Amino acid sequence: MYILFEGIDTCGKSTQIELLKKTHPEIITTHEPGGTSFGKKAREILLNDSLRSKRAELLLFLADRAEHYEEIVEPNRYSMVISDRGFISGIGYALANGDFDFDELVALNRFALKGHFPDRIILFITNMETLQERTSQKSLDGIELRGLEYLLQVQEHMKESILRLDIPHLFIDATESIESIHQSILTYLKV
Ligand code: C5P
Repeated sequence: MYILFEGIDTCGKSTQIELLKKTHPEIITTHEPGGTSFGKKAREILLNDSLRSKRAELLLFLADRAEHYEEIVEPNRYSMVISDRGFISGIGYALANGDFDFDELVALNRFALKGHFPDRIILFITNMETLQERTSQKSLDGIELRGLEYLLQVQEHMKESILRLDIPHLFIDATESIESIHQSILTYLKV
């Protein structure tokens, strides 16, 4: 089973994945971009270099996703694979940037994932107040550069995309405590 943990920066998804890994070591955890050896190189370029072409940038994210799918997700399809980010981040950020439209992003992602969208998605939903609080404690270049309103737009696009694609999901209130979110996840995943 292929499960995505999605949400914007500081929403707490990585903390929850670490917690889950401690209580359930049998779960395979991974991330995008950068979950494979090719992906590490792609991530380096994607996060540090600014590509002139938005299409080149998108195709590099998609190449990372395709490699990640074949190397990590597909061979482990009988285990539970949880990925910190995936194609919902891909679509959410691209839509907020205004570079591509939903249908073309869906088609490209379907191609990268060999037609297999994730079985379930957990989306962590935050709000402006919590975002301000958490980002002031953490210095994140991307956030400073693009702003909090932008991140909330990304979040809205993530949410709408999950609903439009009708993928089984859990929307989690990311402002809740770490322990209560952990419990909600255990219940949802039945682990
Ligand atoms: O969560 P993680 O550390 O992997 O994310 C790295 C950065 O890449 C984040 O700041 C996120 O905003 C950005 N990102 C992006 N487009 C994606 C995936 C991640 O801009 N498709």
